[in-house]
Amino acid sequence: MKKHNFNAGPSILPREVIEETAKAILDFNGSGLSLMEISHRAKDFKPVVDEAVALFKELLDIPEGYSVLFLGGGASMEFCMVPYNFLEKKAAYLNTGTWAKKAMKEAKGFGEVVEVASSADANYTFIPKNYTVPADADYFHITTNNTIFGTELREDPTVSVPLVGDMSSDIFSRPVDVSKYICIYGGAQKNLAPAGVTFVIVKNDAVGKVSRYIPTMLNYQTHIDGGSMFNTPPVVPIYSALLTLRWIKAQGGVKEMERRAIERANLLYSEIDRNKLFVGTAVEEDRSRMNICFVMAPEYKELEADFLNFATERGMVGIKGHRSVGGFRASCYNALPVESVKALIACMQEFEKQH
Ligand SMILES: *Cc1c(COP(=O)(O)O)cnc(C)c1O
Repeated sequence: MKKHNFNAGPSILPREVIEETAKAILDFNGSGLSLMEISHRAKDFKPVVDEAVALFKELLDIPEGYSVLFLGGGASMEFCMVPYNFLEKKAAYLNTGTWAKKAMKEAKGFGEVVEVASSADANYTFIPKNYTVPADADYFHITTNNTIFGTELREDPTVSVPLVGDMSSDIFSRPVDVSKYICIYGGAQKNLAPAGVTFVIVKNDAVGKVSRYIPTMLNYQTHIDGGSMFNTPPVVPIYSALLTLRWIKAQGGVKEMERRAIERANLLYSEIDRNKLFVGTAVEEDRSRMNICFVMAPEYKELEADFLNFATERGMVGIKGHRSVGGFRASCYNALPVESVKALIACMQEFEKQH
């Protein structure tokens, strides 16, 4: 049976990326050696990093003066590296969910943290608006897509201080005004590559301004200077990331990824709104295109486990909602074909007929 992969992360990748990675694991560039058994400093591997960096810059239209880094540690490591490198006195955070909260918690170890707004009281069903960011903050941290709660901030806010963005789960799904940010980061395993590599876009002249000592590996300058090769980088995930970037470009770039994201999201949200059995959890204007969260309507609450089984039997994978929201979450990342969304909708309609 065909599987439709709605996993939240690690998650779906383009089929050709998986196949090409598998080939390189057996024989990298006809070298007779596996990608896993060559030096990261080998002359063949350096072009991989260089091309991945160049494609990042091209696809996201990154201005001059920024570096693209491939690091270890996941987005969770960036929760600490960001304040380590940028927080001198005060930083502002927008509390839009579990990941934002974790980022904020780390920052508190480095200076004053101002939570400018929070939707915690409403179980993060919306993105707060009309907040004020202190003008003396070193940066304003946002989580552009809240993977767990299914809300998304698709406009890069205009505030008086530079932005830092956790874009783990929506990178390359929309154009970004990178010039507003000093740092954009994310774990690759949602939209880009297998787990194990973290992308960081960092503004070069924003680094080196804090007065504290920063351990070598946690200092962005180390990795800017080292071109992501200060120590051994995760070569296999970086190679897969390069393949995904090539794939995005071949498909038509970020604009095309955005068009597909809108198409998938419109189809699925329309069905959620039409189908009497289901309701969406996020407020309409803040609905994520990447993680579509919905629950059974109150009068059909007892059918939740039945629908999960019903959909699973029909090839849907990973649609169980996160425990903090319940119900269902269909993660519709860049590589998810619209056919998978249509297959899920068919399940929802068939199930509705039975009840
Ligand atoms: C998954 C996720 C993280 C955590 O990523 P790791 O790479 O596992 O540390 C952080 N932020 C967001 C928005 C996520 O979706």
